Amino acid sequence: MAQLTCKNLSISYGNNLALKDVSFEINSGDYVCIVGSNGSGKSTLLKGILGLIPRKAGEIFFDKTVKSGQIGYLAQQTNIQRDFPASVYEVVISGCLTKRGIKPFYSRKEKDTALKNLKRLEIEQLMHKSYKNLSGGQQQRVLLARALCSTEKILFMDEPINGLDPKVAQDFYALVKGLNEEDGLTVVMTSHDIGEAMKYANKMLHLDTSVVFYGKIEDYLSSDISKRLFGGHSHGKH
Ligand code: ADP
Ligand code: MG
Repeated sequence: MAQLTCKNLSISYGNNLALKDVSFEINSGDYVCIVGSNGSGKSTLLKGILGLIPRKAGEIFFDKTVKSGQIGYLAQQTNIQRDFPASVYEVVISGCLTKRGIKPFYSRKEKDTALKNLKRLEIEQLMHKSYKNLSGGQQQRVLLARALCSTEKILFMDEPINGLDPKVAQDFYALVKGLNEEDGLTVVMTSHDIGEAMKYANKMLHLDTSVVFYGKIEDYLSSDISKRLFGGHSHGKH
């Protein structure tokens, strides 16, 4: 059985239909890259899967190995979030909050989880630093460590390399690929940098309100769709 099944999903904002009849399945260990031009529904799809916005129609199922709350999410960053006044450790350990209700103190187990993920992403030495003083690449690692505190199974990321310079973006991709290959983490990310993303993903979901293509990267590359719409170039910024 698929780890995630999205069946006939439609989402609208008022009269604007942002997603129409979107269906696909993701298996455990997949690395799925979601592409499409600005406004094609990429962020809406992630938010819809995560239950952050209401669905107009359709269903989302996770298999039973993905327990409720065990989903990691790295949202698209805004400038306000970049100024977040907390230490790196506080940001990372707050990822444990999604697994349980609000309790006044973190447990030993949660502290261990936070430390494990700080080490895993090689940012242990930054733990007492202020989040807002970090570079963009360091901030993304911190947010990734935070997301990993809530999941061992499946990670969603919305334009995670936006604003990072190419070298830093590549390091970030390599890190995520390592988590995917070594730890079996399922990765679902949106990107407008299709060329880079394709080096790491095994599946491509091309959106334009509806699904234009879903399948293996190799098949996408040999399809007319990729050539016609992207012609090998990046297709603008978002
Ligand atoms: P993408 O992430 O691919 O750029 P989005 O999912 O953000 O696309 O947007 C899909 C469509 O939904 C666009 O037409 C966009 O204008 C609209 N939309 C997105 N968020 C909102 C919102 N909060 N309120 C109203 N319309 C929205
Ligand atoms: Mg978006």
